[in-house]
Amino acid sequence: MIPQDALSELASMLGERLSTGKSDLDLHGRSETYHAPMPPEAVVYPDTTEEVSRIVAICARHGVPVVGWGTGTALEGHGSAPRGGVTIDFRRMDKVLEVVPEDMLVRVQPGVTRESLNTELRATGLFFPVDPGANASLGGMAATRASGTTAVRYGTMADQVRALEVVLADGRIIHTGTRARKSSAGYDLTRLFVGSEGTLGLMTELTLRLWGQPEAVSAAVCGFDTTDGAIDAVITAMQMGLTPARIEYVDVATVRILNAADGAALPERPHLLLEFHGTEEAVAAEAARFGDIAAEHGGGAYAWATQAEDRSRLWSMRHRAYHTILATRPGATAVVTDVCVPISKLGEAIMRAAADIHASGLDGPILGHVGDGNYHAILLVDRDDPDEIAEAKRLSDAMVAHALDLGGTATGEHGVGFGKLHLMEAEHGAAWDVMGALKRALDPDGLMNPGKLVRQN
Ligand SMILES: Cc1cc2nc3c(=O)[nH]c(=O)nc-3n(C[C@H](O)[C@H](O)[C@H](O)COP(=O)(O)OP(=O)(O)OC[C@H]3O[C@@H](n4cnc5c(N)ncnc54)[C@H](O)[C@@H]3O)c2cc1C
Repeated sequence: MIPQDALSELASMLGERLSTGKSDLDLHGRSETYHAPMPPEAVVYPDTTEEVSRIVAICARHGVPVVGWGTGTALEGHGSAPRGGVTIDFRRMDKVLEVVPEDMLVRVQPGVTRESLNTELRATGLFFPVDPGANASLGGMAATRASGTTAVRYGTMADQVRALEVVLADGRIIHTGTRARKSSAGYDLTRLFVGSEGTLGLMTELTLRLWGQPEAVSAAVCGFDTTDGAIDAVITAMQMGLTPARIEYVDVATVRILNAADGAALPERPHLLLEFHGTEEAVAAEAARFGDIAAEHGGGAYAWATQAEDRSRLWSMRHRAYHTILATRPGATAVVTDVCVPISKLGEAIMRAAADIHASGLDGPILGHVGDGNYHAILLVDRDDPDEIAEAKRLSDAMVAHALDLGGTATGEHGVGFGKLHLMEAEHGAAWDVMGALKRALDPDGLMNPGKLVRQN
């Protein structure tokens, strides 16, 4: 329970920007997937870094847990509050503070969403490429080291964050990184906080790298005779150094669902959804090279999405795929897998996963960012059926075990939260203890997003 003194201090500082209403608490305890809701005891809506610092300092003094909240789209229970406490919702800290076109940088508050940033950048000729589908906050994306469809060309959040302002567990405000493109000045604290899921500190400002809007963009879909063929085409393309901006796999089950629910009108075959960025000539050359590779692996002709509206329809359909798949079983929730393997092992990993899912009898369409070796099975389960959930988790754990054997990771982009906590020892061994030591050094009382990412005391 939050001590009354702590609540009073927060209330006198924040007034109506402190909420203990049930609907607000419930909203901040829910998860997008199968995890049981765990609401906080209060939600606060700060406007400034100084307010975040004072909130965290008050919580530290009273031993109250603190959980950051961006838009709440993380998939592994990241933002839930298993030990109660205060959730800091960053939605009011949503200002683009500075665009520096000459250095291709932008400084933002953490509550700015990726779509609103790109809207604001439209006239500059620059854009921010990381696209996890959901219109997530940049603070949440940095905290989960998010990636998504475009990471195959532009990299993940780890590659975009140049500098940070962070509020530490005791309320201190620090700055990490600089605007310079590189630095050898000590430990790379920026990279430490990126992906730390709010367990080490809260990001209150981010300096991010921007990219030039490509001169030409073209997108296409390409059906294949077999799953093997589609995946082998991806592997060959990546090994040959092609640089598609997006290269997404959807299996036959996903194609059927998109056809029925989204009017996709795709032939019932495994497909790759592709996008190429560059000059007119580079885009045409890359598309032609990939077309040749696809043909060698049983791929059909491209169906082009040439107009901007067609492209946006294509990617919007891809981004909605998770919810479209969920809707095929009313009331269902999902266990979502996220393994990532070296590109040479991708076919082996996906084929084993597909066979295991088929044998289990669960519905589990597979789709993913295959250019990165990353894919997801959306394992549909009845939230109230513990046997189904256990079976889906068994499948998910088996996929992770196989991925680790192949030199991969339990989570390519969604992160650990508490849903993937039990897999960390197998992936990291003694290095997971080092993560725990870092956590204790920065948050000795274990108040920053407790119950997530590191071993529990
Ligand atoms: C349909 C769907 C598709 C998705 N596809 C992808 C995908 O392709 N790629 C991908 O990477 N992810 C994907 N995700 C997951 C999710 O969108 C990402 O994890 C995203 O980065 C979360 O951002 P958020 O703003 O919603 O963060 P939240 O869910 O609000 O928070 C995530 C974590 O970050 C912490 N946090 C939030 N703000 C801060 C801050 N300012 N400082 C420190 N910690 C903070 C929270 O405490 C929590 O631990 C998908 C989710 C959905 C629902």
